[in-house]
Amino acid sequence: MAKTYTLPPLPYAYNALEPHISEQIMKLHHDKHHQAYVNGANAALDKLEKARAGAMQIDLKGTLRDLSFNIDGHKLHSIFWPNMAAPGKGGGSPGGKLADRMTADFGGVDKFKAQFSDAAKAVEGSGWALLCYDGEINSLVMTQVEKQNFMELAELPILLGLDVWEHAYYLQYWNDRAKYVEAWWNVVNWSDVDGRLSKVVK
Ligand code: MN
Repeated sequence: MAKTYTLPPLPYAYNALEPHISEQIMKLHHDKHHQAYVNGANAALDKLEKARAGAMQIDLKGTLRDLSFNIDGHKLHSIFWPNMAAPGKGGGSPGGKLADRMTADFGGVDKFKAQFSDAAKAVEGSGWALLCYDGEINSLVMTQVEKQNFMELAELPILLGLDVWEHAYYLQYWNDRAKYVEAWWNVVNWSDVDGRLSKVVK
């Protein structure tokens, strides 16, 4: 049997991010969408195993595309949930190493937030804005990911992700993605982001 992925529990209650992200969105997003990526990744692994054993004919390219899409969906959401925290615990400004890096690499936290927001708002269709760290140049780097696996930066650990798929905001913000992006800063868990940076900076 192929090894399997499992859905991690949310690190807070479904309604913890209100009023910025509704309970209904969090329930659907975690229990349905993230679960679907876990199931999709497991199904693709299973198909590949059966194909290797000669028990099934598969479209290898399509199955590998499914695998990449679903593994990345699973991994990104697994970072996205702890990247957020209830208002009060989340929001505000980063401190520690992270604030220093943002000043050194982006000219300040406000400059980072403005460009990251623009990146998120400007994603064509479904996608993510991601903040990564590249040890090779000792610098924070941001990217804009299409869907959830195109324009990935190989090997760069992800510190912070903002999901701008419609399922992340439509039930509450309708087509006003910009309003969702601005509200999202109120629930960013900076200590989680700083912790991820500390793990990868030498
Ligand atoms: Mn999502």
